[in-house]
Amino acid sequence: MYFNVYLKTKILKYLCVIGASLTSLLIFLLIFSPEPELTDAYCDDTVELPVLMYHGLIKNSKHQNRFVIHPDMFENDLKYIKDNGYSCIVVQDLIDYVYNEGSLPEKPIMITFDDGYYNNYLYAFPLIKKYGCKIVLSPIGKCTDDYSKIKDEHADYSHVTWEHIREMIDSGLVEIQNHTYNMHSNKRPRIGCTKKRGESLEEYRKNLTNDIMEMQKRVKSETGNTPSAFVFPFGAISREAPEIIRDMGFKCTFCCEGRINRIKKDPECLYSICRFIRPNSISTQRYFSKILKCKRK
Ligand SMILES: [Zn+2]
Repeated sequence: MYFNVYLKTKILKYLCVIGASLTSLLIFLLIFSPEPELTDAYCDDTVELPVLMYHGLIKNSKHQNRFVIHPDMFENDLKYIKDNGYSCIVVQDLIDYVYNEGSLPEKPIMITFDDGYYNNYLYAFPLIKKYGCKIVLSPIGKCTDDYSKIKDEHADYSHVTWEHIREMIDSGLVEIQNHTYNMHSNKRPRIGCTKKRGESLEEYRKNLTNDIMEMQKRVKSETGNTPSAFVFPFGAISREAPEIIRDMGFKCTFCCEGRINRIKKDPECLYSICRFIRPNSISTQRYFSKILKCKRK
């Protein structure tokens, strides 16, 4: 009996000691453990940006292909963008975010149209007004100059005129960028604005600079705006080109790699913006579910 009482007291004593020790340890850990580091969830300013690449919108199915889709398909894409809470942004929004105090919407997306076809004005322009979406239009300067003279408005092959461009800019929904003045051939000796075989670096720098500056001048004199982005024709890029184009003052370049961009407050991230080509072969639902999976490495 006495032994039992002795044992119980002893056990109780030990339990008290263990309890006190654990409490002290806990207090020690709380006081002296290092502060938890801020994770990305607290301080990450990275924004994911899908960029879509369109060319022509043509109703005749014979002309539809990897680059040309029916205007109705473009309208379905715009509906998807609206219904899924995306907001369309343009290059100036990126520049404001990266260089200034500008902010980006929660779910930004960018719509780009290359080459400046008349059907962009005819079909895409009324649709972007209907849905309140902004686009980035990058015409080929020489084609716009030519069609401004001949005034041939055909939905299947014509290009926009400077008058169309001014009307689109005035809507506040269309931003014009540089896609070369006349370096848009996919035939050798020069593919797009790449360096020709045998061309010296000095010659290439001069030819590329002259062409791109010609487009800058034409856009400035016809619209009052100066493009801040350069869009590589066919996504064809010579090793030497990015530096030359940066030296000319462009803050942003676009290529044709299909990935989602990660935009940070770092000017570097605006060079080589990736874009997803929009082919006619898949539905709006499939196109978006496919591209939204493609994170940038
Ligand atoms: Zn092009």
